[in-house]
Amino acid sequence: MAKRLPKLPPLLQSKIYKTGQTRSANDDVIFQNRANRNGTVLIPFDSIDLFDVSVLTSQKFESGFIVVISPEDYYSNPDVQIIMKTKKLKLGVNAILHYENRAQWNEFNPYKNKLSVAEKRTTPIDGHFVARILPTAKDEEKIILGFNTSSCKGAGIRVAEYASLHTIKSCHLQLEYLFWLCHDSKEVALNAGMTESEIENRMTAITASCNNQKLSNNDRLYKTRIIDNAKNTICPLCLKKLSAEAFLINFFESSEKSDSEKDISQINLFYINQLKTGEFNHSPYNLAWGHQNCNMICKETGVIETIKWMKEVVVNTIIFNKDSSN
Ligand SMILES: [Zn+2]
Repeated sequence: MAKRLPKLPPLLQSKIYKTGQTRSANDDVIFQNRANRNGTVLIPFDSIDLFDVSVLTSQKFESGFIVVISPEDYYSNPDVQIIMKTKKLKLGVNAILHYENRAQWNEFNPYKNKLSVAEKRTTPIDGHFVARILPTAKDEEKIILGFNTSSCKGAGIRVAEYASLHTIKSCHLQLEYLFWLCHDSKEVALNAGMTESEIENRMTAITASCNNQKLSNNDRLYKTRIIDNAKNTICPLCLKKLSAEAFLINFFESSEKSDSEKDISQINLFYINQLKTGEFNHSPYNLAWGHQNCNMICKETGVIETIKWMKEVVVNTIIFNKDSSN
C-alpha cells in the first residue's frame, strides 16, 4: 500500500492487530505473554514426531525453535538420544530440559550435571535448562530459573500459535475485509468518527489488497461459514449476522453500556479448525469473527466437530422425549 490509508477507529485497529499475538501466559509457565506469533517456537519433545527434520532444518520458523524435553525423558529413555540425532537436536543448541517438579529437580539435578540456565531464544541458546517449580508444601520455595528477566520473559510461544509475519499480515487484511462485510459497517464507522470518503478509501484499498493476494474469495468464505450468501460477515457457529458495532464496544468498561449496546454480544477471533500442535492453523480462510459465547463452545474441537456433536445432542433429545411420552 503506497498511499497512507485513513486510520481505523482505535478499538477496531487494536482488535485486528492483537490477532497477530499469542494468548496470555503468566510467570509460572515457560511461554511468553502476548508475543508476536512469528516469535521463537517451543516444541514439546512429545510432539517431535509431528515435525519432519526438513521442517526443523529449514527456515520454517522465522525466529527459530527450541525443543523442550523433560529430564526423565532425556536421562531415562534410551530412544531420546536416537530421536535427537535424527532430528538434529542438541541440548544447549536447540533443545532444553524443562524442570516442572521437585522430584525431577532432585533426581536429575542440573547443577550436578554441570548444566547451565538457558536465557537466550536464538540458537545457539547457550544454556541447557529452565525450571518452573512451584511449591507444593509450606516450607518449599519455588524454583524459577531461565527466561525470567524483564527483558527476556518466557522461552517462546506455543508452536500451534505460530504464524509467519507474512501470514500474520494476510490475516490482518482478511479480518479487516470481514469487518467491512458486516451488514452495518459503514454506519458504524461513520458513528465512530470516520468520514464517508475515509471509509470509501479504506474499503477500496483493503478490497484491492485482498483481491491481489487472493484473500477475498467469497465463495470460499461462504463455504467455511465466515460470510453468508448476502456476503455479510456471520458467526461461524450460530450463523447470525455480526454487527460491526461489536468491534467498537469496550466490553471491559461495560458498566457504561447504553441500552442498544446491551443487546450486542462480544465478538472474538474465531478458528474454523482449532489450533493444534503440528498444524499451522493461524492462516487466512481459517480465521473468522464470531460471538465469544459461540467461540467458547468450539474452541477445543473446531466448528465442524462441534456442529456434529450438537446434532447428536438434538437427535438424542428428540428420541429421549419420544421415549418418555410413550
Ligand atoms: Zn454465534
